[in-house]
Amino acid sequence: MTETTFKGGCLCGALRWEADRAPDYMGVCCCPDCRRASGSGFIPFMGFAAEALTITGPTRQYRSRAFRGGEATRNSCPTCGGLVFGGEHGLSDSHTIYAGSLDDPSLFRPAMALFNRDRPAWVVLPEGVTLFETMPD
Ligand SMILES: [Zn+2]
Ligand SMILES: [Zn+2]
Repeated sequence: MTETTFKGGCLCGALRWEADRAPDYMGVCCCPDCRRASGSGFIPFMGFAAEALTITGPTRQYRSRAFRGGEATRNSCPTCGGLVFGGEHGLSDSHTIYAGSLDDPSLFRPAMALFNRDRPAWVVLPEGVTLFETMPD
């Protein structure tokens, strides 16, 4: 493994993940659910195929209504409450990993912003980020 390995975990270290490749996409989501779940202005996310990821440790799940119907599942550490990834571990084909959990946060380079319509004025995005008012088609 090199120093550019994408890996990380929660605040207390009980819930960990590691990827065997770079993410398929990286971005931020400013939807009201992401803001409330994170207590922040947005959630920075990285998309990985499920087979690219090894996730270890206990999780607590919270399910809410997804934008396009169905459910969105957020997984946090039951001990420290750190929010780590989205999707159903063992069921979903892909996962979003929340980039704040990265051991090396400099690996995160967002290319898109979702739900720009809900972005507070105090969230300033890097130049060149593609804006979507809601989700890409
Ligand atoms: Zn934890
Ligand atoms: Zn969101």
